[in-house]
Amino acid sequence: MPDVIKLLPDALANQIAAGEVIQRPASVVKELLENSVDAGAEHIQLIVKDSGKALIQVVDDGKGMSEADARMSLERHATSKISKTDDLFHIQTMGFRGEALASIAAVAQLEMKSRSEDRKVGTHLMAEGSKVKFQEVCAFERGTSISVKNLFFNTPARRKFLKSDAVEMRHIIDEFERVALVNPEVEFKLFHNEQELFFLPKAPVRQRVIGIMGKSYNEKLVPVEEETDLVKISGFIGKPESARKTRGEQFLFVNNRFFKSSYFHHAIQQAFEGLIQSGHHPSYFIYFDVEPEAIDVNIHPTKTEIKFEDEKSIYAILRSAVKRSIGQYHVSPSIDFEREESFDILPPAKGAKPEPPGVTVNPNFNPFDQEQPAEQKKQWERGNAFQHRTSSAGWEKVYEGLEQKMPSRQEEPISQEQEQLLELSGDDDNTIVRQIGLKYILVQSQEGIFLLHQYRAHTRILFETFEAALMSDQHASQQSLFPTQIELSAQDAALLKGLQETLHSIGFDIESFGNNSFIIRAVPTACTEMNVADVLGGFIDDLREDRPTDEGELRGKVVKSMAQRSAIKSGKELKAQEMLSLFRTLMRCMSPQHDLNGRPTFVLMNGGMLDKIFD
Ligand code: ADP
Ligand code: MG
Repeated sequence: MPDVIKLLPDALANQIAAGEVIQRPASVVKELLENSVDAGAEHIQLIVKDSGKALIQVVDDGKGMSEADARMSLERHATSKISKTDDLFHIQTMGFRGEALASIAAVAQLEMKSRSEDRKVGTHLMAEGSKVKFQEVCAFERGTSISVKNLFFNTPARRKFLKSDAVEMRHIIDEFERVALVNPEVEFKLFHNEQELFFLPKAPVRQRVIGIMGKSYNEKLVPVEEETDLVKISGFIGKPESARKTRGEQFLFVNNRFFKSSYFHHAIQQAFEGLIQSGHHPSYFIYFDVEPEAIDVNIHPTKTEIKFEDEKSIYAILRSAVKRSIGQYHVSPSIDFEREESFDILPPAKGAKPEPPGVTVNPNFNPFDQEQPAEQKKQWERGNAFQHRTSSAGWEKVYEGLEQKMPSRQEEPISQEQEQLLELSGDDDNTIVRQIGLKYILVQSQEGIFLLHQYRAHTRILFETFEAALMSDQHASQQSLFPTQIELSAQDAALLKGLQETLHSIGFDIESFGNNSFIIRAVPTACTEMNVADVLGGFIDDLREDRPTDEGELRGKVVKSMAQRSAIKSGKELKAQEMLSLFRTLMRCMSPQHDLNGRPTFVLMNGGMLDKIFD
């Protein structure tokens, strides 16, 4: 019987091996990006055309390759990353198998330019289907550029199995984000069909997360930190209210490698229990550091499952670390440690109705009313540059002016808590107010420093103002000199018509004008500074999303949405006087500590708190 066993030709063997490593354009992206990071690059650009089907190019400023290395790098099992055998174990956990470039070259056209620092010229090389077609010297900056074209050109079956452009691009972005999230010290750019999708400058982890997930994450992230003998955990979780039905904002990394784990996902989900609706998922960006020996990385490059040695303990540590972070975020404004009960700021229980206000709020009060003697106004404006400090006489005058517009303290029943706050906020002579980052307001009082979140504080004020107007039926409204006209879709017009009465009772005068047009003749006094069309538009969006059924719920929604839509936003510059009145009005609210989602509106740092910080 003749011998039948033959060695596969190299090219075929490479193609088969490539099938394991390179499954889709995103696999190429992952391998190239990781190589650039390994090469110590500080700037990495990913350029993609047609979702990677036409081109995937990675350009870096890493250490580059010599001519010989450039050529070698395309050989299977060629790696510069295993030099000593005892490295092998550690290096395996990083997934270095020296296979990636060889695999890519087996199933695509690969063009490489590279120059290492110690050479004057670079190397230009082209390979196709595992064969080097061309190699010569070239001028090139230090670093490496690798372009991969016509992926799977020689394996049509694979090419056929690629998904739509949108799906393949989503995979590419996923890989890009995963690499970028573990290498915040590297700058990344991603271009797709000449369009810049990401520009991520070198930044701390938090900024990197925000760069990827969007600016709105700045508000949503809460840090998680834990260190035990077994594991070090760091990273961020999204606040409970930012949990979504869709998944995709969940990231776990171990020793700088992305992995998936439904087990640890469950641990985090457990920590959020009772704080998010069922079916919603919290977002998280969690980094584990463990001894390499403590994990079993299935080094198959496309697999993302990793087995931990002491999984159960890590589960428990993770869950409690996340729980503690959620807790800290919820109690952070309660930094007056001595007075814990009065600062209990847990979010209101679900479905709890706000208590009807007494006469706490004067619906006529407009914190932005500018009316005041010209001389004082000038004084305010002068003081507004950075800080405001009134002289004792100046303060009295101004305060008098403000007092007239606010409910007087003697006439109204105020709670003990309010009393305490008012006392703390003091009405002494030297009050410094200052806006920080166009978003926070710092108010100094004898007792300590108040830090207000301007948007949240104003939503709280407006909410209570509108509520009071609804209850008392004596709304404060202001006729517009130039009534605003708005046009709506038929559906939205019907919605608005149904709400006209409720809106009227909080101070709107809206007249239907035929053809789905409306004229807004008057707005609540507290809203006179707003762009009414925007406010109403946004508010209709809110209600369209989930339409309440009964009248009570509807009114609640209207009031909440109006308050949120018409409150002054972060980013708006405020005058010292506006800040002070915002502060004082907030302190007179029924529930000054929370916004309408239970989030803190202010933080008070008093002596005790400062002692703790500087302990
Ligand atoms: P591995 O990364 O497992 O070593 P690869 O096939 O991905 O295997 O790369 C092979 C070798 O090519 C690397 O070990 C490295 O020496 C070299 N190399 C690849 N990409 C780059 C790059 N961007 N800059 C410098 N060297 C690189
Ligand atoms: Mg590699």
